[in-house]
Formats: sequence, structure tokens, C-alpha cells
Amino acid sequence: VIETGTPDRAIVTTCAYCGVGCSFRAELRGDRIVRMVPWKEGKANRGHSCVKGRFAWGYATHRDRILAPMIRASIDDPWQEVTWEEAIAFTARRFRELQAESGPGAIGGITSSRCTNEETYLVQKMIRAVFGNNNTDTCARVCHSPTGYGLRNTFGTSAGTQDFDSVEQSDVVLVIGANPTDGHPVFASRLKKRLRQGAKLIVIDPRRIDLVRSAHVEAAFHLPLCPGTNVAVLTALAHVIVTEGLYDETFIRTRCDWDEFQDYAAFAADPAHAPEAVAALTGVSAADIRGAARLFAQGGNGAIYYGLGVTEHSQGSTTVMAIANLAMLTGNIGRPGVGVNPLRGQNNVQGSCDMGSFPHELPGYRHVGDAATRAVFEAAWGVALDPEPGLRIPNMLDAAVEGSFRGLYVQGEDILQSDPDTRHVAAGLRAMDLVVVHDLFLNETANYAHVFLPGSTFLEKDGTFTNAERRINRVRRVMAPLNGFADWEITQMLANAMGAGWAYTHPAQIMAEIAATTPSFAGVDYDLLDRLGSVQWPCNEAAPEGTPVMHVDGFVRGRGRFITTEYVATDERTGPRFPLLLTTGRILSQYNVGAQTRRTANVVWHDEDRLEIHPQDAENRGVREGDWVRLASRAGETTLRALVTDRVAPGVVYTTFHHPDTQANVVTTDFSDWATNCPEYKVTAVQVARSNGP
Ligand code: SF4
Repeated sequence: VIETGTPDRAIVTTCAYCGVGCSFRAELRGDRIVRMVPWKEGKANRGHSCVKGRFAWGYATHRDRILAPMIRASIDDPWQEVTWEEAIAFTARRFRELQAESGPGAIGGITSSRCTNEETYLVQKMIRAVFGNNNTDTCARVCHSPTGYGLRNTFGTSAGTQDFDSVEQSDVVLVIGANPTDGHPVFASRLKKRLRQGAKLIVIDPRRIDLVRSAHVEAAFHLPLCPGTNVAVLTALAHVIVTEGLYDETFIRTRCDWDEFQDYAAFAADPAHAPEAVAALTGVSAADIRGAARLFAQGGNGAIYYGLGVTEHSQGSTTVMAIANLAMLTGNIGRPGVGVNPLRGQNNVQGSCDMGSFPHELPGYRHVGDAATRAVFEAAWGVALDPEPGLRIPNMLDAAVEGSFRGLYVQGEDILQSDPDTRHVAAGLRAMDLVVVHDLFLNETANYAHVFLPGSTFLEKDGTFTNAERRINRVRRVMAPLNGFADWEITQMLANAMGAGWAYTHPAQIMAEIAATTPSFAGVDYDLLDRLGSVQWPCNEAAPEGTPVMHVDGFVRGRGRFITTEYVATDERTGPRFPLLLTTGRILSQYNVGAQTRRTANVVWHDEDRLEIHPQDAENRGVREGDWVRLASRAGETTLRALVTDRVAPGVVYTTFHHPDTQANVVTTDFSDWATNCPEYKVTAVQVARSNGP
């Protein structure tokens, strides 16, 4: 319930939208929220906020929220409201029946990057210790799993290297595959402030994003590459730096593996990687690549920020490693103002990865095959753990279609709308005998569910989120859960109904267990967070107040590792039938599939997804501004209105994916990153034609 009037108290908590992790004072009058005010002491936002965190929290009391559990025998039946006891007993019994019929690996679950660290930890613990397998995955599968793979293999840890304050000491900032103004607005403000002070900017993006030219900000270079050619452009930058002798030999000799560097340098120096050789492929002028390379190598402190335009490709992991190579090549690691900085999408996607959501990793990024790590958790949890990695989300869906995977628990994630190739996701869900959706609203995935467990919002629980700079922020309960329970309590009820015997009474106890089992969190507790406001992991005996900048004296893996990054073209090609390339992104006022923001006043700023198309491509198709167009790929088709703009290059079209009416992911394909299966959302060959509407 939104009240107006004078507040009489305030509770500091953390925004539940993007990975910036802004701190807010929730100001209350009695038990009613009056307003959300950005908290000046918040170290991620320093008193700033955007239209999502500040205004788009009313979904917590929206009439669409489901507050009572529901079950149904089949997805064609109507929902029946039941008590919590009935819903939990039914779910537990059905999961156990499926395992009895088809084996322990026939069920699994998906953790939520919207939920707290403590809640995510409990979900993966339930899957590992109670389900008895490693069939756990997370939405990071479809966003930053390549970041985990790429940075772990080059630097030794799966996270960004800097704090946000670091940008204030940058001299050159390279933004690739990210649109901070829309996706990470508060960080964008801090970046723009630094640019206004004179720092130089290089943007690598198919679109002319706002940062390229806006009030008081103009990029020194915009490299508008053809979607899918990130690796070719990054290797061409490295080619210039290597062949012109602009690399930081002292840094490389003291901090990196010199033999591997020499192999890499020989690779990068190959004339096939010269800017002139890749200009036609990438669509970027050789002069601009050379200019950008010289600026980044010689311009002082060089920082790299990137987003899903890097990871959501068939070479997503390769691109992350190419970025790491560039940072090591120029000595831009291990001090303020530099570094490799993934801009994480969801509020707690960093945390969900830290907490062991992936099927191959226990909390703290330790492989399930490592006996010593398993022994730590076996002692803490009192069960034997499976040493074999479990199924990733796409593998679960494939196995469901084949009949060997039969039951899925999905917490706070609308996989039908957010995952690629919607038809395949629907086929997998439809094939399952038990789909349990634990969420705030009856989302698209719930159309295929047999059990709906009402979830709680960030305003209704205690816990922590970890933002893109590894900062662990407190989430504090502002109002009682309208559904009766916080999400961690619901997971505990289900685990106990399946025989767990857990007895947590507050998330602080869960954090104590995380700290006891996970070295990078060893020093974290709620008292410390209350005292410091927040802390960046690793936080342990060696760093009792956390670690703003990583890899200061040495890389986590010892020596930094250069990895050869050969460009491999995606299998998704344009041709006569599908002549345009579609890429996707976000808009400032909305968030992901829009489940929350569409249920707030923010919808006035973006009431539909539109297709950006270059004037030349529009004219060729007889399409004018506002016309309905049919967007089709080999995976599917949808209909939306056209927005004619030269922000996109000829041959490229672009849309957002915030509205279920559009379902942009109907057209995205099942191609994915070679290392992590992260979907290739950013490159889809499509055709566009005028239409009479949906
Ligand atoms: Fe929330 Fe991100 Fe906006 Fe900050 S920048 S208020 S974390 S959506």
C-alpha cells in the first residue's frame, strides 16, 4: 500500500532491480511505505538512484500478486487454492514419487537471482542435500555464465575486479556490449561525471547508444561492429598493441605467464588479425580500431566495462577472455581506475553464482568433483554429495522432452519468457510431470505449472544481495510478507517435508553457515554489515573489511593467463530468407521481462516493445514509423511496431524484451556459447515485413 504523508521512521535496504545494488531508506508512516529515498551512505550509489529503484516498488502490493498456494492435477485444469500445508505436502510427495519411478536425477531446480544470497544458498542446498543431485542452475546461465568461465580461466576468480568508485580514477574507459544509461543508470551517472572531467571513452556496440553522444559526453571512438564479431574486433585491438610495441612488458613479465604471453603475442600479431584484414568482416574502419587501440594502451588508467552484448554470443566466453587479455596486455589490472568489470544484470546474479547455483560448482566456485570441497559441505550438511555435475537448464529441458527429467522447482525466474527459443522451453515444461513455480505473479512459466507457491518481495524479508562489484548489501524487512512467509522459509518447509530437518529461524543463521563453508565469505556476518554498511568479498582473515580491488599483488590463480582467442563465426547467418540481424537490449524504465515494472507507474514510459530499424531498411520494406511489422526467424515470429532510427546500422534491427505480448525470445535461436550454453540472444537472422498487427 502506497501512502503519502510525513514518514515517522526509515529502514535501510537494497534495490531489487539491477546489479548496481543501490541502497535506499524505505521511509514509513506506521507500517506503510511513504517513499524510497536513495541512501547517501550507500557505497554503490552514494545517494543516487534511478526511476526503477526510486519509484517502481509498488508491485509489492499489486492486486495481481498471488498470496495463496495453488495446485492442479494437469496444466489444462483450473487452479485450486490450498493451504500451505497441503501445497508443501503435495509437492514433496510428487517429487519423491518421480524419483522413485525415474531415479534421483529425475528432478531439479532453478535458483533466483532476484532472491537473497541466503535464499539461493538454501535452494541449491535443498537440491544437493535433499534431492540428492546437482541439477541446479540459475538465470546466470542465460546472462553472465561466460563471465564466470572467462575470468576464472584468465584471472582465477569469477567476478569483476573493481569497486564502482574506481571509475573516478580512470583515464580511458572502454564500454563494450553494455548500455549503462539504460541498464545500470546509477553507474552510468558516475561514469559520465568522470567523462565530463576529461576521461576518454571508447564504445564498442552495434547501436549508437546514448553514451556515444549525449549531453556533455562524446565518445572518442565508437566502433559500431556487426553483431557477432566481438572477438575479431578485440583481437584486432590486441594486434595493434602487440605489433606497435604498446604493451606493458614490465606488468606482463612480473604478473603473467611470459611463455603464454609470447604464444598469444605471436597469435595476435598474425596479419590475419590486423584491423585492415577484419574491417569488412566487422564493419569497423581499420583507422578507428587502430586509434582506439592506441588510446587504450597509451591513455593512462584503462578500465573495461561490459555487459550482455559480450556474453550472450556463441563466443561469449572467448570474448570475456579476449577482454581479460586486453587488460593484462596493457597492465590495467590490480589498482584503482583500471580493471575488467562485468555489469551484472539482476540485483543478485553475482550472489546467485557465488552461492553455488551452477550444476558443477558448490558455493564459492568450487567444483563438485573436488573431494576436499565436498567433504566441507558433507560435514556441514550431514549427507553424502554427488560428485558429478548436474544438468544445466537447456539440458533439463532436453531431458524432459526425452522423458528422463520429470520434475522442476523454479524460484523467481520466468524461463518461458526469458530463455531463448520459447517453443523449445514450452515443449520441455509441457513434458514434465511436476512444475513448481515459486513467484510473485502467475508468470508465463506458470502456464505450465502444477503447483504455484506465492513468493515474497525484497520488502518482506531479511537477507543480503551481492552487486556487480562483489558488494554484499543488507536487505532488511520493511513489511510483513503478504503471502505469510519469506522465500527462505518456504524452501525450508519444502526441504523439511522431504526429510531435511532444517531449523533456521533467521537468515543470519544461514549467512553463518555460508561463512563457515565458503572462504571468500568467511568474515561476513550481519554485525559486520551493520557496522560497515556493506562489504566486498573476499572478506576473511586476510581482508577483514573486504576487498575493493582484486589481483593487487598477484592474480588469484597466481600468474595471469593469456588465452588465444580465435574468432569463429556464429552458425547464425543472414541469407536471402533472413537478411537482417536482430540484437536485443533493455530500456531505462523497465526491467527484464517486466513482471515488476509493468505493474508500476513506470509503464507510462514504455508501454510496448518496439523494433528499431534503419531508415534505409524500413524504406526498402515500405515500413514507416509506428507501423506494425512481422519479425520472423527460423525459430518463430512475433509482431510489434516499428521505430525507424539511424541508431542502428543498416542490416541490424533491435528490440527490447520487456512485454509478454511481444515475447521477443520467440524468435531467438537455440545457438549458445560453446563453453557455458549461454544463449546467443544478441545475434538472430531475421526477416521484417509490414503487418496488419497482431
Ligand atoms: Fe535500482 Fe539499479 Fe536503478 Fe540503482 S541503478 S536504483 S540498483 S535499478
